[in-house]
Amino acid sequence: MRQPCIPLVLLTIYSLLLIETISHCGPTAVAMDASKNSTEKPNFIVIFCDDLGWGDLSCFGHPVIRTPNLDRMAAEGQRWTQFYVAAPVCTPSRAALMTGRYPIRNGMSSARGVLFPNSGGGLPQEEVTLAEMLKSNGYATGIVGKWHLGHLPKYLPQTQGFDEYFGIPYSNDMDKVAGPGYRAEVLKDAQYYPDSAHYNVPLMRGDQIIERPADQNTITQRYTDEAVAFIRKHQSQPFFLYLPHSMPHIPLFVSEDRRGKSLAGLYGDVIEEIDANVGRVLEALKECQIDERTLVVFSSDNGPWLSFDTHGGSAGPLRGGKGTTFEGGMRVPTIFRWPGKIASGVQPALGSTLDLMATFASLSGAELPGDRKLDSYDLSPVLLGGQGNPRTEMFYWTNAQLHAIRQGAWKLHVKMREPVNYGKEVALAAPELYHIERDVSERHNVAEKYPEVVSNLLERMEAHRADIEPHPDMLAIPLVESAKPQ
Ligand code: MG
Repeated sequence: MRQPCIPLVLLTIYSLLLIETISHCGPTAVAMDASKNSTEKPNFIVIFCDDLGWGDLSCFGHPVIRTPNLDRMAAEGQRWTQFYVAAPVCTPSRAALMTGRYPIRNGMSSARGVLFPNSGGGLPQEEVTLAEMLKSNGYATGIVGKWHLGHLPKYLPQTQGFDEYFGIPYSNDMDKVAGPGYRAEVLKDAQYYPDSAHYNVPLMRGDQIIERPADQNTITQRYTDEAVAFIRKHQSQPFFLYLPHSMPHIPLFVSEDRRGKSLAGLYGDVIEEIDANVGRVLEALKECQIDERTLVVFSSDNGPWLSFDTHGGSAGPLRGGKGTTFEGGMRVPTIFRWPGKIASGVQPALGSTLDLMATFASLSGAELPGDRKLDSYDLSPVLLGGQGNPRTEMFYWTNAQLHAIRQGAWKLHVKMREPVNYGKEVALAAPELYHIERDVSERHNVAEKYPEVVSNLLERMEAHRADIEPHPDMLAIPLVESAKPQ
């Protein structure tokens, strides 16, 4: 009698355990899956300013412009002091950020095919963008702001992986239809305030123009309204939000209640308004309780437009500005913030906007395109652990010309331009070598003292050049460049 009972008891216990296990595992398994979506794939936000100089934020040393929100972001995150863009002007710089490739590879230049508003060009469809990569990994994708990689329907952001678009599709000084010359007015009167109606730029939602001319006085605020709405709408799924502000590219505009508030004139007012609106984005993340699963990156597309006098920014101690391959043209103020994940502090490691592609792929489990050459390094070891940076060098391209290389502490120029406003090329008798850590302002050419360093760097430049297959549009650019920067 007893023997048959034992298996029966065991079977009963087993069945009860099974029911118990199923009843707990079911919802738990679902919850784990949900948490996988929400915690294992971080959200990414890239806030990208236009022509913001390395020295324009108080956390990067500006003496009077007040940027408390960015300062707090830097204190909570990592302030990268040696972070580079891949080109010293808007369009190619943005192409590099979007693709993780030097723009020589995809034809995006300031000289050909992308001069707006009459451009017929744009980022080739064959390129794989950050947005496309993340979208295919389950991300909601949105862009709010200046696209500048093609404004014809076939080049708009929705053709490059973005679900949603709101913004001015190119630079805010294009489509000028009336009014005095901006630079002349600024030089006459530092208090000059432009008229938004003089710039017939469109404001678009999706592929439709919803306002023209766009009222640029409120553009920073309105971009942020859209960004905050995007965050709220997509708070429960992984998202990528790209927020390229139109400011502080000239003509400068600021909300009425912020005019005259900074000690640095209209330029300072504009930066302080951007700062306040970065604060609104960070606040929205807190409210949605997604602060700790969102990596926010703040940076700029190129250095300050120095020829606009007090309406242009400052590169701090760096030489030159926008349009040049000096540090002031291509080193940009950059902050990464991800509470609870990345250690806070100053980060002097080399990095580039080129690296967002590989870094975001690594952090989200997305797959990088494997059928092409990328110039992107995964910075997550530095962000998460503070060491093991795979980026050890940077190449300074401007359109089809390779001007310089940085490797470790050394920078070698084989070409250069006058340091202000996309100046004329300067004839160099011989390559110039700078120890960029001891001489951040590129003042002391030490090529004669270190001939071996010079020859090693020249060799490395040649190897890099040999690795590049230039896009045909790039080869068509005349070697003496005269195009207006964007
Ligand atoms: Mg720019």
